[in-house]
Amino acid sequence: MHFDVLTLFPELIEPYIQASIMQRAVESGVVSISPHNLRDWTTDKHHTADDTPFGGGGGMVMKPEPVFAAVESLRGKSQDIAVILMTPQGETMTHAIAERFSREERVIILCGRYEGMDERVREHLVTDEISIGDFVLSGGELPALILMEAVTRLLPGALGASNGAAEDSFASGLLEYPHYTRPAEFRGWKVPGVLTSGDHQAVNLWRRKQSWLRTLKKRPDLAEEKTLDGLDIVILKEIIAKQEAEVPQKIIEKLR
Ligand code: SAH
Repeated sequence: MHFDVLTLFPELIEPYIQASIMQRAVESGVVSISPHNLRDWTTDKHHTADDTPFGGGGGMVMKPEPVFAAVESLRGKSQDIAVILMTPQGETMTHAIAERFSREERVIILCGRYEGMDERVREHLVTDEISIGDFVLSGGELPALILMEAVTRLLPGALGASNGAAEDSFASGLLEYPHYTRPAEFRGWKVPGVLTSGDHQAVNLWRRKQSWLRTLKKRPDLAEEKTLDGLDIVILKEIIAKQEAEVPQKIIEKLR
């Protein structure tokens, strides 16, 4: 998969990629990432990429011409490439969105600065608008890195263990179970006995139950949407019988 990142600060992209797990995915050929400086597509001698807003007021607005020129030259004749605008006004980033983009061969990501981009970019060039949450940052570079990392983790071969991402929170519809490592006892706090029992079936059962317990507690909205398999049904009935967590009515109805 290939990411083109259009930004006024391409130097912000490289160091993070190089120092992170993304580099491994780049080296193994799973992804390639090209940061591009939007100023390279300006035509005046001062390489002006922003201007004052029509209608007045503070702040600067990114000019449309370099953004259109850059996207058009990068995508060439392939009109169906996704052009993603990072913006606090977009659809909030989720696992499902990461999955959607992981099926693309190539995407172009636009990073804003200042007050953002001229509205005509959004109206006539952009195919997707993505936000990383209801807060405002000063630029789209961190959001772009977040999106790229979330997508890259889902690509086969990007993570060391082949099923590494499949068990992560959200992928299964539940939050992930708790993790422990050595020492088995730390400051008097012991690791749950089942984890050191060597009984893999018991471990799997415990983990699934822990996933359910923490999802019911922290994210009942996710729990409600989960499709239930046989193991889920056994576990949920036990949770209800032992009153170990509050189970939403919607799930109780699914168990009938
Ligand atoms: N004036 C704009 C915010 C501009 S912030 C508004 O009120 O909507 C400058 C740039 O940072 C944006 O163009 C966008 O690319 C990026 N950005 C800021 N917050 C973001 C967020 N939560 N998600 C994605 N991108 C964000």
